[in-house]
Amino acid sequence: MVDLGIMVFRQKNVNGSFKPHLSVKFRSDEGELLTFSIDTTRTPAKYPQPDAYLITHAHSDHNGKSAMLSDRAICSDKTARALEIRHDKTYKGRTMELGASTEVNGVKVSTYPNFHTAGSTAFYWENDVGTRILVTGDVKDASQLPDCDVLITEANYGDPGDTTCYFDDDIQGFTNALQDNACVAFGAYAFGKAQRAVELMRSCGYNGAVEMEEKSLQLTRCLLDDAGDLAGIGESCGDPVCVVPPWDLDKLPSGMTKYVMTGRSDYRYPAIQISDHLDARGLTDMVRELDPELTVVYHPGGHRPGRFASHLNSGGFNAIAIDRISNVLSNEFI
Ligand SMILES: [Zn+2]
Repeated sequence: MVDLGIMVFRQKNVNGSFKPHLSVKFRSDEGELLTFSIDTTRTPAKYPQPDAYLITHAHSDHNGKSAMLSDRAICSDKTARALEIRHDKTYKGRTMELGASTEVNGVKVSTYPNFHTAGSTAFYWENDVGTRILVTGDVKDASQLPDCDVLITEANYGDPGDTTCYFDDDIQGFTNALQDNACVAFGAYAFGKAQRAVELMRSCGYNGAVEMEEKSLQLTRCLLDDAGDLAGIGESCGDPVCVVPPWDLDKLPSGMTKYVMTGRSDYRYPAIQISDHLDARGLTDMVRELDPELTVVYHPGGHRPGRFASHLNSGGFNAIAIDRISNVLSNEFI
C-alpha cells in the first residue's frame, strides 16, 4: 500500500472496539497529509478530526446518523435529505449533486452513481502520486464507475460459495403482480426499496396512484424526481396499489394481494426477488472491469468481505478484507 501512497486503517473507539468501516490516509498534491473516513461514526470532538467523513448513502449500517452531525460530512444532496427525514436531525456537512465534485483541502473529490438507493454515491479522488482511489459504497450497477488503482468496495453478496449470493431481479414477477391483481400491496423498506418499487411501477407503464405509508411517502416525494401520483394509505380513489414496510402488510385489508420485495423467504407473503445489490458474479465482474491494483473490501460485517477477498486473490487480483487490516490508529493519531 506504500507504493500506492495510501494507508488504509481502522480506528478504535474509546472503549477499545473497532469503529465501523475504515479510514484512508494519503497526501494531497500540495504534500499535505489527509484522512478521509468512510461510512464511519464520528470521532469525539475532543480528538483530531478526519478531513472528511464520506457518507455513501443513508442506510443505517453506513452510519450517516452519526456522521451527518459533523461539518466535515460529505454526501449527495439526496442522501442528506434522506438522513434528515430518517433521523429527524439537521445535516451539518456539505452536499453536492450526484455526479458533481467538491474540494477538500486541495483534493478534488468526484461522485459517481452506483444505483443502490436514491442519492447513493461512489467517491473518487487522486493522491499526490496519482493513485486513483474509488470508494463504491453499496453497488447495484457498476457501469458508470471509473477505473481506479485502489478500489474500496462491498461484499454484501460476495461469498461465491453461498448459493444465496447468486440472483437475478424478478422484473417479470413484479410486473405480473402489478398487472394481474386489482388490489395489490408490496412490502418494501421505507428507504431504498420503496423508491425502487415506485420506479419499477412507472418503468413498466403503471401511471395510476401509489398509496404509501407515511415515511415511505415522505422519502419518495423528496428523493424521486418523476414519482408520479403518490398518496397516503386510503387517500386515493379506485383500486389502490400500496407500498408499505413489510411488517405493515398485515394492517392492510385482507382482500388485497400482498407480496414482499426481498431476497429472503421467511415472510408469510410471497417474495419477489428485487435486490439493491450486485450478486457475487456482478461484484467479481465489477472488479475485473475497474481493474484496480488493490481491492479493499470494507462492508458488511461478518465473513463475506473475507470470502470475497480470497475469491479475488485466487482469481489473480490483489485484495484484502477489512478484518485483515491490521493498521489501527487511535484517535490521537488521525
Ligand atoms: Zn445499503
